Amino acid sequence: MALDVPRKHLGNKGGGDRDGEKRDYSEKLYQQLKERMAEIWPVLMMIAEASARRGWSLYIVGGAVRDLLLNRVGNDRAGSKVENSLPLTDIDLVVENQVNTADETAVGAGVILAEAIQAEYPEIEAQVHGQFQTATLTWQSWQIDIATARTEFYAYPAANPAVEPSDIYRDLYRRDFTINAIALKLTGSQPGQLLDIFNGQADLQQRLVRVLHTDSFIEDPTRIFRAVRFAVRLGFDLEAQTQQLARSAVKSGIYEKSRSKYKKVPALQSRLQAELKYLLEESGWEQSLVWLDELGALACLDENLALSPGLLQQLRRMDRWVHKFEVSQPRWILLLELMLAQLGPERCNRVANSLNLSAQSQYRLRNIHACETQLKSQLKAQVHGSALSRSKVYKIFQSHSHAELLLMADRHPRILGASIWLYLTDLALISPLINGGTLKRLGYSPGPQFKKILADVHQQQLDGTLTTEESAEQYVLSQYSL
Ligand code: ATP
Repeated sequence: MALDVPRKHLGNKGGGDRDGEKRDYSEKLYQQLKERMAEIWPVLMMIAEASARRGWSLYIVGGAVRDLLLNRVGNDRAGSKVENSLPLTDIDLVVENQVNTADETAVGAGVILAEAIQAEYPEIEAQVHGQFQTATLTWQSWQIDIATARTEFYAYPAANPAVEPSDIYRDLYRRDFTINAIALKLTGSQPGQLLDIFNGQADLQQRLVRVLHTDSFIEDPTRIFRAVRFAVRLGFDLEAQTQQLARSAVKSGIYEKSRSKYKKVPALQSRLQAELKYLLEESGWEQSLVWLDELGALACLDENLALSPGLLQQLRRMDRWVHKFEVSQPRWILLLELMLAQLGPERCNRVANSLNLSAQSQYRLRNIHACETQLKSQLKAQVHGSALSRSKVYKIFQSHSHAELLLMADRHPRILGASIWLYLTDLALISPLINGGTLKRLGYSPGPQFKKILADVHQQQLDGTLTTEESAEQYVLSQYSL
């Protein structure tokens, strides 16, 4: 579907530069931006100059402008000023080039600028994304994305948009929320001038996340997840109609239709995965999930997915555990796997596959239910006879990764929790009393029996019958002939 920018917005060009007050405001903002970006400022100025030389306009847009303005106008829930002096390290630039040569059109203004910067600063890494005519400059902790102003068209809900070069107004119109659709001009006679055609500043003041138009969530369901993430992070509310639009987009069944009709629905697949990652990485992840559940938006993953009190408890527990244990998997993926695992084997595999999760993650989710059943019955069988020895517990769990064990312990705290805990906090941490080198020193010839001897000693060690290196060596000499 095409996006029509309302005529009133198109007629608003040049607004914001009408009187002295506005000029002062622009100057102040510009000065503040310069301070917050002092380190990278010369590079930004060079990009601005290179744009101006070609007759192009350069804007900084999105999160950096939002956060800059929040610093000035933001108040926390208690009404006091938000002091947000963190440097703004992710910079989104949009270049508007209304007069193109054929060459410029082919390559894209953003790419031309990135290449010019790279020639001047070879230490800055430049990556070109030809498909979207955009480029990314990376230097130390800074990342500058330079895009050519564009408009977007969605062929169907949750599709990747087709893009077409356009002007800054349409570029702002393709964005997610009013607070993210404010542009600050870096070129021209009055740099620092704001272009705020959707009244984003008013929403920043009222602390609201608001979409730009009624089709926003239909086009792109990841925006529901983004809306909640920003609202939680900034302590904002979702504007009433925006909430309504999110609810009705999910309820309408439009995403399911897209999913069944089209092979590629990236905003319900890989792009949704990326948004879930960002959301679950933030400190407010729990509040975000509660909110998403309340909006019915978890159904974008699977219609049966819901945030029960039991699942919330598991998620909180996992959050604590990943801090305690050295797990090679990041928290967000374990939280997501916990959520999906509760869907049962079949659905959870389908969603993991559809979200394009890593092969490791899909493997864990494919096996977790069967593994749990197997481990439960192994533990039961062992306990039946006599008390389960420490070495037996070790043997049961040793072939599983920490991530798998944490997931299973969390899902079945009563049946599996205690033994997995014993394994992770004690048994898995015990370093063997002896190794192959010891056996060679004692006079044994390397061969298949090394493994057997070492396993035997390790078992005795776990069960507490061997406690020192000397006792282990004596045990080996007494049990195995040279
Ligand atoms: P953050 O502080 O998390 O980096 P950000 O606003 O910079 O926030 P990005 O994900 O880096 O967020 O996106 C940059 C800008 O691109 C956003 O501010 C928004 O204007 C636009 N944008 C990103 N994703 C979407 C989307 N799905 N739909 C519309 N606009 C988007």
